[in-house]
Order: sequence, then C-alpha cells, then structure tokens
Amino acid sequence: MSKEKEIIQGVSIQIAFGETGTKFSHQEEFPLSATCICGGEGRMAFVVYERAGINKVSYICDLHKNEPGNMWVHDAVAVAVYLCKNCLKPIAICNQG
Ligand SMILES: [Zn+2]
Repeated sequence: MSKEKEIIQGVSIQIAFGETGTKFSHQEEFPLSATCICGGEGRMAFVVYERAGINKVSYICDLHKNEPGNMWVHDAVAVAVYLCKNCLKPIAICNQG
C-alpha cells in the first residue's frame, strides 16, 4: 500500500457546513466572515477540522517537517474557508490545537 493510501485511510478530517463551522476551531471561534484580498467580504462556506479517531490517525502536521525556513503546523488543524462576494476567491483561516 502506498504512503498516500495509508494516510488517506488514517485521517480523521471532519467537515462542518456553513455557519455551524464557526465553533469547530482549535482556538477561538472562527468569524462569520473574512476580508478578501480584493477588499470584498468572504462568507463562510465550510470548516474542515481534524479529530482523533478510533483507528490509526495521520494528521496534516505529519506531512512535512516544521523547521527553520520550512514552516509547517505542529498540531491538529482546523481551516475555515470563505468565498468572496465580489470575486469568489477562497479565503482560508487556519489554526491548530
Ligand atoms: Zn474578492
């Protein structure tokens, strides 16, 4: 079995749709909206977040080393994704446990 398949079977990523996702943060709740680089308002689309599962679990933080010049997350992550009302570009806010 390839490394990718092992990781896919072992992940424990959950998805929360829309505004219900604000509380699935590893820190403070995510905001309901975020500002796009165009200046427009991004509305909450969904949140993906990692949780410990029953079986072997791989975390996003295991994908790469976190070292000087190659920063990476060090713990389970939660990512809120917003879509801009003006240009539809995605905006992401990420935090970790
Ligand atoms: Zn925009």
